[in-house]
Amino acid sequence: MGASAGEPVIGLEVHVQLRTEEKLFCADSTAFGADPNTHVCPVCLGLPGALPVLNSDAVELALRTALALGCTIHETSIFARKNYFYPDLPKGYQVSQFERPLATDGRFTVDREDGEELSVRIRRIHMEEDAGKSIHDRFPSATAVDLNRTGVPLVEIVTEPDLGSPEDTRAFLQALKRHLEYLDVSDCNMEEGSLRVDANVSVRPGSGQELGTKTELKNLNSFSGVEKALRQEVERQRRIVSEGGEVEHETLLWDAGRSEIRTMRSKEESHDYRYFPDPDLPPLVVDPARAEEVRRGLPEPPRERKRRFVTQYGLPEYDAGVLTGSRALAHFFEDAVREVGDPKAASNWVMGPVLQEANQRELEMADFPLTAESLAQVVELVEEGTVSHRVGRQVLGRVLDTGRSPREVVEEEGLAQVSDASALEEWVSQVLSGHPDEVERYRAGEEKLLGFFVGQIMRLSQGRADPKEANRVVREALQRQGA
Ligand code: ADP
Ligand code: MG
Repeated sequence: MGASAGEPVIGLEVHVQLRTEEKLFCADSTAFGADPNTHVCPVCLGLPGALPVLNSDAVELALRTALALGCTIHETSIFARKNYFYPDLPKGYQVSQFERPLATDGRFTVDREDGEELSVRIRRIHMEEDAGKSIHDRFPSATAVDLNRTGVPLVEIVTEPDLGSPEDTRAFLQALKRHLEYLDVSDCNMEEGSLRVDANVSVRPGSGQELGTKTELKNLNSFSGVEKALRQEVERQRRIVSEGGEVEHETLLWDAGRSEIRTMRSKEESHDYRYFPDPDLPPLVVDPARAEEVRRGLPEPPRERKRRFVTQYGLPEYDAGVLTGSRALAHFFEDAVREVGDPKAASNWVMGPVLQEANQRELEMADFPLTAESLAQVVELVEEGTVSHRVGRQVLGRVLDTGRSPREVVEEEGLAQVSDASALEEWVSQVLSGHPDEVERYRAGEEKLLGFFVGQIMRLSQGRADPKEANRVVREALQRQGA
């Protein structure tokens, strides 16, 4: 498909906070939410004489990220100083990688909802430290600065401008987030700033390969924000071009509260930052053997896992997509298949009752206390006829409430299905004497009321009556009464 004029062209710079305990160059905690300026030390504050020491856990996570995105790892990469002044940058420079990044030339492929593949080239992945946070809404006429985040390890993932629409961009980012969560390199919490997106966007000036002038949208901190902001910006640029104007090369800020774009500054160039190699940090050397070891240890990515769920378990695409929505859910499902035996039954139970319980309790699957063994026992109780399907779901809830096993719950709470004739007779006679009009109509030939009676028996017994037996007993009782 050829390009056409006015078409959006989008490239992303995604900052991902790596899930380490300590900062990139010092031992301060990276934990979110501490009192302001409590996780700081001479190194991240840039006090004279303090020296940085590279955190090897961060390197490990950066390598995992780069390898999972198909990048080439460079044996030697260089930390550089990016110099600028800002109140939340106490050193006056940010340590980043510039001319020689950790990794380049990757690719990330996403399944679009329409079944098409979306393949995006990764230009580079480099390591850097985060800056602090300026807080503008704390004091009425002053800005507060919190430096806890200063020096927290990040990777920046830079794509080529391969995305063709705001919708594709959203799909790409959602899949990227899931992929990174599977890799366990980041918690990817957008609200806490562990995944931050800058989007570069232009519109094609003609039908050739030529690209238009881009703008850069910053502060995109939700998926819907990314999509909305890009839609607006594409429209704005199209309008400018159609009126014969020229798009200015600038940095724009997305105001999520007002859903509008604001000008932040005219675009800086990289030479404005006076990058130079950090004299306090030696080159980062990654032994190719180590990189290969990390690559071999990578977990199965979500996209492959979804495919495998379709082929190995015979699941519909949609179900496989839901069940691979998070790594914890996919693990739980596969454990459940092993315990339950039948993949179809396991997927019905997991996609239905299990996810419902998790949602109701507002629990992530990673924190969900149900074991696959317990689920399998519930399924077994239903399949052997000890409880109805409806009561089975109820048992699941009680297992979660009490921490007891499903069989214990059924026994202690008297939930087993009742097919015992005398108990059934008792319920039947109560129902029939409670509904004399319906009994009359049934006798007059309205036989479909049988279902109504059985329903009433199920209600009275709180789902414990064996419906087949109840059906038989009520029919007999009506015949007896009619005789
Ligand atoms: P800059 O030098 O302005 O920072 P780069 O070439 O380094 O630009 O690219 C930064 C990001 O902008 C990359 O994600 C890239 O894919 C994207 N990008 C570059 N040119 C365009 C363009 N014309 N339209 C949209 N995105 C672009
Ligand atoms: Mg750039």
